[in-house]
Amino acid sequence: MSRKFDSRTLLVASHNPGKVREIRELLAPFGVETISAGEKNLPEPEETGLTFEANAELKALAAATASGIVSLADDSGLEVDALDLAPGIYSARWAGPDKDFARAMQEVWQKTSVSGKTQPFTCRFVAALTLAWPDGHMETFRGTVEGTLVWPPRGTRGFGYDPMFLPLGRTETFGEMDQDAKHAISHRAVAFRKLIAACFEK
Ligand code: IMP
Repeated sequence: MSRKFDSRTLLVASHNPGKVREIRELLAPFGVETISAGEKNLPEPEETGLTFEANAELKALAAATASGIVSLADDSGLEVDALDLAPGIYSARWAGPDKDFARAMQEVWQKTSVSGKTQPFTCRFVAALTLAWPDGHMETFRGTVEGTLVWPPRGTRGFGYDPMFLPLGRTETFGEMDQDAKHAISHRAVAFRKLIAACFEK
């Protein structure tokens, strides 16, 4: 039995504006007040975990213990089969200190093109979501969405690797889809639905 969320306010333990926006949109129907780690001036812990789950847990726990507020963290990334699941947990790092995702996408495509594998290049987005309480209790959920890489990138919506990700069975990349269409199928939304069922629904 999962612990239920019964506070008024939830801290979104992320400094990534794209993620904070999406998590707020996903939480909107539940009438939860949110603040973000950035707004609270919390430091960003170093992501030393070797899995999405380990990183989500260390970020959520650091925020919950520092703030005294139940905190939600997301660790996510793109796994490319031809690259042995890279960039994976290092997806943000491939964009460098300038968070240059045009460059990161270029690198993913370049490495995939010389991998010896043939198109379509299969891949998936993965998200681990952790809800952590100040007493150290945690609940963690994983969501994935399968797709293929496209080149050149298409669309200006979303963030990160969205313009080069074509979800399975679709004609629009995540960068071309409107937010509602992305939320219907995204890795973050899949993990989110599990979290809601376990921790928000009575
Ligand atoms: P982290 O979870 O903070 O380590 O960063 C995850 C990185 O994965 C982001 O900076 C993006 O580059 C990428 N990523 C995660 N989710 C998405 C998504 O929904 N769309 C595009 N890129 C994503």
